[in-house]
Amino acid sequence: MVQSILSNLAIILLGHLFMSMLMNQRNRLSKRILSICIVLLFSTVIISMFYLPIEIDGYKFDLRLIPLIFLAIFRGWKITLSTLIIVCTWRYFMGGVGVLPGIVAGMVAPTLFVIFFYSLTKRFNNIYEKTFIITICWLISDFPIVFIVPNGWEVFKNIVLIRYTSFVIVAFTYYSFIKAEHNKEYYKKQLEWMAWHDQLTNLLNRSKFLELIKGKRNNAVKDPYIAMIDIDHFKKINDTYGHLAGDNVLIQLASIFTKQREDNMLAARYGGEEFIIYLEAATLEEAILTLEHLRQHVRNTPFEIDHSHCIHISISIGLAKLEKDVLLQDVINTADQYLYIAKERGRDQLIAPYHVDFVYS
Ligand code: GH3
Ligand code: MG
Ligand code: MG
Repeated sequence: MVQSILSNLAIILLGHLFMSMLMNQRNRLSKRILSICIVLLFSTVIISMFYLPIEIDGYKFDLRLIPLIFLAIFRGWKITLSTLIIVCTWRYFMGGVGVLPGIVAGMVAPTLFVIFFYSLTKRFNNIYEKTFIITICWLISDFPIVFIVPNGWEVFKNIVLIRYTSFVIVAFTYYSFIKAEHNKEYYKKQLEWMAWHDQLTNLLNRSKFLELIKGKRNNAVKDPYIAMIDIDHFKKINDTYGHLAGDNVLIQLASIFTKQREDNMLAARYGGEEFIIYLEAATLEEAILTLEHLRQHVRNTPFEIDHSHCIHISISIGLAKLEKDVLLQDVINTADQYLYIAKERGRDQLIAPYHVDFVYS
């Protein structure tokens, strides 16, 4: 009996291993293919358990319900119901004793309970909530024995200890593996996010921006442009109001870039008080208009220095076209040169590429 319980657990954990491998590949798979793979994987795991029953006092059980419970909680009703249909059909055609109770009480009713209960309450947080859901599922699955088999109450009493204990232990063991995987995913995402973003402004950092632009410029729908943006007299803000106030300005400016973001526009912190923007436009005039709008918006926005004090700032912009077959770094340098000219000409203006006399202010 212990061997059968352990083999049920082994199948569940093997399924978990395959699930982890599948999730590692999820970026390469479409959502639909991934869902189909999950349904097939869980169906295989559950059907395998039909053939490894745990025998107690002549009655055969297995732990098929446990993967269904966690599927309902973590993967949603569509995947769960699809899996349920496959495994119930399989069980139906296997025939033998207790087909209908095995399907209705052993799988359908408890799984539907979890789907409804969890979608309504989202409760599966502390140990009590987990134990509650697992216990109710076990009760729905096993208590009907009292009414279905002859001398049902006696049978239920004989099996209850081993059934409930093994059910809870296997469920919590499986859950601890799922939880560990989720934690790993969470920290991986956190690390990734930190590696790709500037911690102060939450904008993309320079290296991630450059990496993304390589892909974007090849798939550009319109002409791609690069704009270098620098805050005017930023040092004065730091000197007058303090470094923290300067930080606040950087954060608020970044949020303007994020909010103003149009399709095919990407902003990043290039370094210090300098930002870089990738944008696509049908013509140079369209690119200028978009950035001019941004520049005017910055000029008209009050920036909060502290709770009682606002200041106005301005930015200078250098714009260069990201021509095909030209190195990205060369285009950035060109935009930087135009930015330098904007500074020389009095700041708070945009200098466009095709001729340096083309000044908007
Ligand atoms: P210009 O109009 O010519 O650009 O003048 P500026 O004062 O903006 O330029 P400058 O390069 O002289 O000064 C930039 C300042 O930005 C200096 C540096 O201390 C400050 N700075 C760079 N990064 C940060 C930051 O993360 N937070 C704050 N508060 N200041 C920063
Ligand atoms: Mg500056
Ligand atoms: Mg600067």
